Amino acid sequence: MYYKQYGNTGMKVSAIGLGTMRYNDEDIKAGRLEKCAEIPLYAFEKGINYWDTAPFYCDDKSEIVTGIALSQVKRSDVYVTSKTNFNTLKSQKPDRDMFRRRLEMSLDRLKTDYIDFYHMWCMLNLDSWEKHMEALYSFFEEAKADGLIRNIVFSSHMQGNEIETVVDSGKFKGMLIGYNALNYRFRQSGIEKAHKNGMGVVVMNPLGGGMIPQNPEAFSYLTKGTDLTVPQAALRFVASHKEITVTLAGCTTKEHIDDAVKAVENLKEAPAAEIVKQYENEGVAFNNLCTGCAYCKGCPKDIPIPKFMDAYNQKILTGNDSSIKSRINNHWGMDGKKAADCIACRKCERECTQHLPIIDRLKEISQLIG
Ligand code: SF4
Ligand code: SF4
Repeated sequence: MYYKQYGNTGMKVSAIGLGTMRYNDEDIKAGRLEKCAEIPLYAFEKGINYWDTAPFYCDDKSEIVTGIALSQVKRSDVYVTSKTNFNTLKSQKPDRDMFRRRLEMSLDRLKTDYIDFYHMWCMLNLDSWEKHMEALYSFFEEAKADGLIRNIVFSSHMQGNEIETVVDSGKFKGMLIGYNALNYRFRQSGIEKAHKNGMGVVVMNPLGGGMIPQNPEAFSYLTKGTDLTVPQAALRFVASHKEITVTLAGCTTKEHIDDAVKAVENLKEAPAAEIVKQYENEGVAFNNLCTGCAYCKGCPKDIPIPKFMDAYNQKILTGNDSSIKSRINNHWGMDGKKAADCIACRKCERECTQHLPIIDRLKEISQLIG
């Protein structure tokens, strides 16, 4: 396993981290949690010492499964995370007791006295971040002073310049962001700034919400000069950034872990600017694809936006207008006319993690469908 320093914390973490949101669904539903815990234990055997978990993952069982595994290894040999925000606390104005109860629940489930990295979770934009800072940051600080958490970090879907603002606040030891071969331009300046300021950078969604493995031909350029598969090469693309500390791989099976470990064998790091230049010189840049994250859900006209944006992805990937209609009809089995219902309220665009021009794309789809 290849290891990196987590910012200025003095912690040495594996370049691949275990994303614990993909424990086997059937085992989770059947309550076979010990069996699920074999995954983090196998990851540990392979040198993966960074385990990222949260409330709600895997029917709210991820922390419990992760705790079963954590209790079977030497505690100081693994860095474990969890997360909180207004949603987990079920209040826009949470008090200290609510914060503590949630944190204590995570500690209890994880069977530990402390969490190494506790996230101010899912800051969608600066406005949401500011509100969370005002309401919660002092509780994080107090929990840290009490030894319940070791490092205060945040996770976000903001774009690069907004991330820079959060980094500049100097309030966090690290961050968790979505970064991959599809969206790097949105966040590149943010990771560069965080690295420069001595923060750790952990990356989620390195496979672009499945877009990369689902389109192996379009992304075959990532494998050039390697014996890696497209998903492995996509992990390596992220992990090779000097600015990125940990690349999370969501693993259901031991084979997934083996694949992820292979992706960083003999890793060579380079600055983001160099890597991006190299790929863009080859004429490939897919920063404008929908990742299917579904943060845009809740359209007042009930438009299934992620499905329409997925159909639009096909046009970007194939260069063929007709692929939109075929995806809508054959893959999604939808009535494409629904795209015309958009009233341009912009709700979805404000929430889109990729900052996509959803309204324009729906208009274009609507015209193509006729
Ligand atoms: S802009 Fe259109 S698609 Fe987006 S939420 Fe509003 S009505 Fe729905
Ligand atoms: S349109 Fe944006 S928010 Fe919606 S699924 Fe796609 S990337 Fe996510």
